[in-house]
Amino acid sequence: MTATYDALIIGAGQAGPPLAERLTAAGMSVGLIERKLFGGTCVNTGCIPTKTLIASAYAAHLARRATEYGVSIGGEVAVDMKAVKGRKDMVSTRARRGVESWLERMERCTVYRGHARFVSPREVQVGSDRITAKYIFINAGGRALIPELPGIDRVATLTNTSILELDALPRHLVVVGGSYVGLEFAQMYRRFGAAVTVVERAPRLIAREDDDVSAAVKEILEAEGIVVRLDAECIRFEPRGAEIAVGLACASGAPVVVGSHLLLAVGRRPNTDDLGLDEAGVETDARGYIIVDDELRTSAPGIWALGDCNGRGAFTHTSYNDFEIVAANLLDGERRRVSDRIPAYALYIDPPLGRAGMTEAQARATGRPLLVGRRPMSRVGRAIEKGETKGFMMAIADAETHHILGAAILGTGGDEAIHGILDGMNARISYTVLQRSVPIHPTVSELIPTLLGEMQPVSSQSS
Ligand SMILES: Cc1cc2nc3c(=O)[nH]c(=O)nc-3n(C[C@H](O)[C@H](O)[C@H](O)COP(=O)(O)OP(=O)(O)OC[C@H]3O[C@@H](n4cnc5c(N)ncnc54)[C@H](O)[C@@H]3O)c2cc1C
Repeated sequence: MTATYDALIIGAGQAGPPLAERLTAAGMSVGLIERKLFGGTCVNTGCIPTKTLIASAYAAHLARRATEYGVSIGGEVAVDMKAVKGRKDMVSTRARRGVESWLERMERCTVYRGHARFVSPREVQVGSDRITAKYIFINAGGRALIPELPGIDRVATLTNTSILELDALPRHLVVVGGSYVGLEFAQMYRRFGAAVTVVERAPRLIAREDDDVSAAVKEILEAEGIVVRLDAECIRFEPRGAEIAVGLACASGAPVVVGSHLLLAVGRRPNTDDLGLDEAGVETDARGYIIVDDELRTSAPGIWALGDCNGRGAFTHTSYNDFEIVAANLLDGERRRVSDRIPAYALYIDPPLGRAGMTEAQARATGRPLLVGRRPMSRVGRAIEKGETKGFMMAIADAETHHILGAAILGTGGDEAIHGILDGMNARISYTVLQRSVPIHPTVSELIPTLLGEMQPVSSQSS
């Protein structure tokens, strides 16, 4: 028998549940299918557990630095990994249960547990149920990419999901992948007390960022004793007793690093290979991301794709914004578009990197006349008071329109302070408006007007 709803949502990630709420509030009947953990990646294996662990790692780090602040701990700082994991589980589980019970209690929403797969253009199978709906929304998210590297089948590997189950300290964690996910785990495990090596194929860490950001992040990590191996062009694995030998073939240094644990953090792939998308006529690109237009409609009429599975964003806030765009266009008669979104995100090492808009390299590539400002965190009063002076802040504006094109704040509070600039970018105001604002003292944000006021003209050609 086929159940019919006004709308069907596949996946209870960051877009599906709020969309279910808007649609049911508008009087529609909604079927929602989740195959595993309610809340998806962010709640269970992404943002929430990692940021909770990072908070524990920060506490350990600060405790070790206690004497710098005139505070005596009276002994060695010890990290209880079982307790650290327990705290993480508690925070994550509470959030998951919150999403699940929210959906269960939602009027006009029917929750299905199981794997959803299209069996025809308008029919989805879940277990023994067949479901059809006028509107179908795919919010299937993604998972860790397992690279086809030599020897990978011969050794035990961890992903961002399985590493969250560890409740004992690795002797030596080797992280393959020097980008956002890998670096957060690298620093947190170093602070928990493990030896950590980061192995990256590219010549620098977080290669999407500007050179100076990559270099400063590397310096921050190395200062804590993390070994960073770049240019690892030929990564391969081999069991070495109970441990794992990772071959690097780096331009310099020992060609092999032996670790007790191996984390693969080389990217993500969309959960679209097992959705039966061919049956529905939903097209994907070469990497499996669902192709969508600027309003998130797929190639199949009446089917939308939201969140990581459409390749238009890779963050919780971009998935949630996808929900806002679809809901506004469908229910409120608006014409919101993905291309109106200014990219923004944070890398949660400590100090964090807050980013908005273009990198300097991207801004230079536009050929526009630019103004660029830079200030080290060692010249930010709040950072000095907190004893956290690593990093720098920078901003770029169009020298003619005076619109801010991009900014980076790598420094204490950078994940929050960046919003002072991001808000101005979203309001499309001249940087001079922010420059004349009166900020609160003492904050990191109070230096934003100064930073903008000190911007200098640079040639867009030079780099
Ligand atoms: C380690 C890590 C740290 C991160 N930290 C941050 C951060 O600090 N800030 C940030 O903004 N982002 C962060 N992210 C990214 C963020 O988690 C994702 O961008 C976000 O969760 C994507 O949400 P989504 O709605 O697209 O999909 P997801 O949250 O992945 O949800 C998709 C859901 O669909 C379900 N599903 C899939 N296929 C089917 C099917 N066929 N049938 C039924 N159900 C199905 C899945 O089980 C899942 O529950 C992090 C990611 C990782 C891996």
